[in-house]
Amino acid sequence: MLNIILFGPPGSGKGTQAEKLIEKYGILHISTGDLFRYEMGNNTPLGLKAKEYMSKGELVPDEVTIGMLQNKVNANPEAQGIIFDGFPRTIPQAEALDAFLNEKNTEVVVLIALDVPEEELVKRLLNRGQSSGRADDGDEQIIKNRIQVYKSETSQVFDYYSQFNKSVSIHGVGTIEEIFERITDAIDTACC
Ligand code: AMP
Repeated sequence: MLNIILFGPPGSGKGTQAEKLIEKYGILHISTGDLFRYEMGNNTPLGLKAKEYMSKGELVPDEVTIGMLQNKVNANPEAQGIIFDGFPRTIPQAEALDAFLNEKNTEVVVLIALDVPEEELVKRLLNRGQSSGRADDGDEQIIKNRIQVYKSETSQVFDYYSQFNKSVSIHGVGTIEEIFERITDAIDTACC
């Protein structure tokens, strides 16, 4: 199975690139942010819980997030591979993902991190906020907090997969096509 972690701070272009990757590789895309937003939109207990954290730019607790991710994977047994977008964001999430995939006799093939300067991230997110309707994109303070949480809690996941030689950093500034080519080169190198 072609299991890819698409990694990077908020605004680094993960969602945009994930859409193109699905087309090219025909694999399942799981975005934990999208799953939380779906639950929030339906006012489910999980959505209400997630909203407490998302509205502040904090991470939703690991146990909630990991359970939701596992349910989504289990609901798609026919998937030929998965793009994990926005997950894992903590070391416990990474360890849980590895153990979970291991039980299914599969593993993460590569983690691709999109590297984008902070000023560019803030600019992109404020821009996106004008059209996305996402409350957490519209407020500069929440954006700054999300970037801070990425630095303090999430960036370590890159080092975690580096110990298995699975982490690759990609320059995340350029046209969508240029960045896509860098990503597919990295995937092809890792998997074939
Ligand atoms: P995203 O759409 O990936 O930017 O995620 C939006 C928000 O959803 C984040 O700021 C977190 O509050 C929450 N979230 C998404 N994925 C995770 C995760 N793997 N762990 C914890 N919280 C998450």
